[in-house]
Formats: sequence, structure tokens, C-alpha cells
Amino acid sequence: MSAETSLIKARGARIELAQVRKEYADSVAVDDVSLVIEPGEFMTLLGPSGSGKTTTLNIIAGFTAATSGTLTIDGTQMQNLPPHRRDIGMVFQHYALFPHMTVAENVAFPLKQRKVPRARRAEMVEAALETVRLGGYGHRRPRELSGGQQQRVALARAVVYEPSVLLMDEPLGALDKKLRESLQLEIKRVHQEVGSTFVFVTHDQEEALVLSDRIAVFNDGAIQQVGTASELYEKPQSLFVAEFLGESSTVRGRVEPDGDDSCLRVGDRTVRAAGRLAEGSAAAIVVRPEHLRVQPVTQPTAPGANALPARVTQEIYLGSGRKLEVALPDGTVLLAREQADRLSGVRRGDEVTVVWDADRGVLLDDSSCSTHPPASGDRTPVTTAEKSGR
Ligand code: ADP
Ligand code: MG
Repeated sequence: MSAETSLIKARGARIELAQVRKEYADSVAVDDVSLVIEPGEFMTLLGPSGSGKTTTLNIIAGFTAATSGTLTIDGTQMQNLPPHRRDIGMVFQHYALFPHMTVAENVAFPLKQRKVPRARRAEMVEAALETVRLGGYGHRRPRELSGGQQQRVALARAVVYEPSVLLMDEPLGALDKKLRESLQLEIKRVHQEVGSTFVFVTHDQEEALVLSDRIAVFNDGAIQQVGTASELYEKPQSLFVAEFLGESSTVRGRVEPDGDDSCLRVGDRTVRAAGRLAEGSAAAIVVRPEHLRVQPVTQPTAPGANALPARVTQEIYLGSGRKLEVALPDGTVLLAREQADRLSGVRRGDEVTVVWDADRGVLLDDSSCSTHPPASGDRTPVTTAEKSGR
């Protein structure tokens, strides 16, 4: 890209939602959402369908009015400002290009609306198309482009006027997996190039992990936790967040006090985790698959490590290693991941010991969590595919 045709780097705006609530006649779509999005940040709103992500995005855009609470952008109250005066670009799941216009005319449309002079318009359109790697495609019609290319045109149209905020609502939801992954990298690069504040909505946790500076996890209209991908993965503050992001194994039991650590009674065994919860309360320990080791029952366990008897129920080949599903005596299924150069040698059907270090388990309250059924002997882990709705 030459210097003359590059977009002027936009100054990202600071977005602040304070105690935002949106009620409909028979439901509460968004309940007391407070969130600060820093200038130039890539923030993803992640959560299952119906959790309030689109409503929150539409409140920022101005398409939906909040019932109560405040929205400020760069310190200015937005309540009475219509969408077209908010300096916001938007990309939707369905590209919504004008079919009768060329690609260049589509991208020029917002510039015309803003009365940018014709000569300058041509330069800006070319720069925006270069930014999404569609330089030279200006004369085509949308129907002459693939779905992925059409979505890149929509992205060019949203960034062409250098808005300080770009909102995207599941923009890759209609594309197949391979294309989605390549466009994720494009969007990440475009974000770094244009400098606007990006707010991105998805229900796909892998997509959120790839793209975001920070992620706000939504459930039932409320934000459960806000943090970087690694903060949410390593230090989830609730079972919902632990189980929604990445793969995890959950061991449930009751808290018993034991010195500085908290002890959990699981069947006839006791396991430990850092952190404390009230004695006797229902609790869970969440462990990531890479921290669970599966070993033959004959192998002694290191002192201090947590160990539970189990049986291997599934071996899954991953190329880079393998994943094992093991079942505890009560039916709880745990996942362990083994690297190709550190395979344990246990097979499906083997009686084994699952082992993990106490500081690799996250102790969480299990009393108010509604994401799992009441105690039963047959729990299966939620897989990534189920969480993504695929
Ligand atoms: P998400 O984008 O996370 O899937 P939404 O923000 O679209 O969720 O919806 C959140 C909740 O608000 C849902 O229960 C939905 O049915 C409800 N809702 C959204 N828009 C309306 C509306 N216009 N009228 C009534 N209920 C709505
Ligand atoms: Mg939505």
C-alpha cells in the first residue's frame, strides 16, 4: 500500500456503559451491564444465544434505547444522539451490500452521505479496499464475489470513513470454518491498521480467544467476567466462565476445612485446591485438560498431588497428541490431553489414576450455578462444538 492511498489512522474512542438495563414487555434483555472499553481496544462480547450481546451492541450503536443506565463515548452522553451522528461503523452477519452497485460504489456510499468531495472519495475507497486486500475489485458487483469477499467489502465500507468505533455482530457467522479462520486474521490485522475501537459479538469462544484484547462473557443478560483470554482461561471466577471458555474438567463435591487449603470431598476421596470456600458448601474444582495426567494404577502418585481412581472411556487422536476421556466411579467424565512425545500408554478400558497438582485446580462455588443438571450419575463434559452451536 502506498502512503498516498493509506487510510488515516483513526483515533479509537473510549466507550463506557454504566448500569445499562434493557427491558422488554415480558423480559429483561440486558441487566445492569457496566463496561469500559478503552480507546483502540478490541473487545469481544461473548456468550450463548439470547444472553444480551446484540442488545448491548445495538445500545452502543443507537438502534436500541436503554431502559435505564448511561452510555458515554469519549465522555459524551449518547442518549439523544441518533446512530448516524455517533461516528460508528457497523458490520452485520449478513453483508447487506447494495446488489445493484459496484464494490467501489458500495464502499463510497457512506462517504457520499457524509458529502466527501468526489476526488477524495475515490482515494479513500481505494485505500479501504487495499486495507481488506481487495484492491482492483472496485468494478465488480457483489454477486461476482465469494461470501468471504463480500464480507470484506462490508468491512471496507465500515472502515472507509475512519470511524472511531467499529461494531460487528457475528460477522463471520454465515461462513464456513476455514474461511472464518482466515477472516479472523484479516479482521485482527485491519484492527491494528485502522486504530478504531472494535466491539465484536460472537457466541464462538475460539473466535473470541483469537481476536480479542479483552472478552466480556455474557450470560442471562449480565456480564459474568471481563478479562484477557488468559485471565478468563486461567482464573475463571465462576463455573459458567470456566466451562464456556476452552475445555475443562469439573469435579464436584463438598468443602471440608484443611489448614490453608480447601479440601473437597469427592466420593470417598479428598482433593485439594488453592482458595477457600465456606465449610460444607457445594463446590467444584475445574482443571484444564493439559494439567490432568492419566497413569496406570500401579504407578505411585507424587506426594501432595490430587489423585482419583477412574477408567479410560475414550481415546481421541489429535495429531499433536491425544485426548483421553476418563470416567470417575460416579460417572463424572474428565478430559486429559497428552502431548505426542509424552504419551502415557494407557488404553481404553484401563483402570487408571487421574492426577493433578493442587495449584492447577480452580476452586469455584457450585451452589448457584444453573448451567448443569442436579446431581446425577451420568455427566458428560460440554464440548466446544456444542458451545459454539455447531
Ligand atoms: P444475543 O445477541 O446474545 O443472542 P439478544 O441481545 O438478541 O441476545 O437478546 C437478549 C434477550 O432479549 C433474548 O431473550 C431475546 O429474546 C430478548 N429480545 C431481544 N430483542 C427483543 C425485542 N425486540 N423484543 C422482545 N425481546 C427481545
Ligand atoms: Mg445476537
